[in-house]
Amino acid sequence: MVSCISLLGSTGSIGRQTLEVAKSLGIRVAALTANRSVDLMEQQCREFLPELAVMGDEAAAQELSRRLAGLSVRVTVGMDGLMEAATLPCADTVVTAVMGMVGLRPTLAAIEAKKRIALANKETLVCAGELVMRRAKECGAQIIPVDSEHSAIFQCLAGAEHKQVKRLILTASGGPFYGMSREELEQVTCRQALKHPNWAMGAKITIDSASMMNKGLELIEAMRLYDLPMEQVDIVVHRQSIIHSLVEFCDGAMLAQLGTADMRIPIQLALTWPDRMDCIAPKLDLLTCGDLTFAAPDEKNFPCLTLARQAVLAGGTACAVLNGANEVAVSLFLQEKIGFYGISDLVSAALDAVDSAVEPTLEAVLAADRAARRVVNERFGG
Ligand code: MG
Repeated sequence: MVSCISLLGSTGSIGRQTLEVAKSLGIRVAALTANRSVDLMEQQCREFLPELAVMGDEAAAQELSRRLAGLSVRVTVGMDGLMEAATLPCADTVVTAVMGMVGLRPTLAAIEAKKRIALANKETLVCAGELVMRRAKECGAQIIPVDSEHSAIFQCLAGAEHKQVKRLILTASGGPFYGMSREELEQVTCRQALKHPNWAMGAKITIDSASMMNKGLELIEAMRLYDLPMEQVDIVVHRQSIIHSLVEFCDGAMLAQLGTADMRIPIQLALTWPDRMDCIAPKLDLLTCGDLTFAAPDEKNFPCLTLARQAVLAGGTACAVLNGANEVAVSLFLQEKIGFYGISDLVSAALDAVDSAVEPTLEAVLAADRAARRVVNERFGG
């Protein structure tokens, strides 16, 4: 089990739950990072007394510093702070729970410092999965996924050889809009999209869940983590979110991982693996959990999944374009500046407009991300 973590993104949903798990297991916290939530960061620093606290901008850092006067917590700011938090010598594990592409460089730095990565930042693997997995292999850094589907697959694969795997089956809840027609989806609001039926999560991932882009990003994440082509990763809608994903082996045997829809279980597993410990999350009761159902995803009315497949097929830096465009489009949707289909329209426009036929080096990925954001902002502004 890990003894000391650096937690990147401590005030978000995964960050807060990671601290609950760390507290219950007696794991020390070396660094906390947040964007602007000074109040919560102050509370967390007082409770966990990290060596380092990082804020997203100068004003927030100064305010935090002022409030923590007298405590031995050093406060820094921005990407430099994130990079330092990712490589602090006393932390054996880095939990990457920041939202979005901003997690890429700190994740690479943590890999190079040979930390265990508890990966909760799927955008990193979507944008630069080949690069990140190659560096992890070269540096001997272990990446353990926190995303519930990928944690499920990680557990089902334990002890299996790559060649024995026939396919991975990612389960999708379908989100709040499952079964709606195109006409209905054209009218949905941001407030409706934020009401996820099974999971309590941050705003960005909840919108991604409603649009099914989340499953598209997870498809790419699974391909990168487990080194499998798209044809060997299937998606099935499972409304109850009890089976978190499955693996089918070459002999036809299927393994599934079940549990309550509580992220503290996969978070804890990433910190204790290969050990398992008692967990504070509620346990699944098979006798009361009801029927389990399975259905094919509706890619016609939820085009984001098809766009993710299109990005995979295009290769190069197309997945970084997909992700960058989606991050901006989701933020526009959250500000009620575009409708539901505005998200897929803008992502599609970015995939068409940005030349992605280049080797996905770190510089190329960062450039593709910037270009995608620019296209979306221009389209929206114009
Ligand atoms: Mg997930």
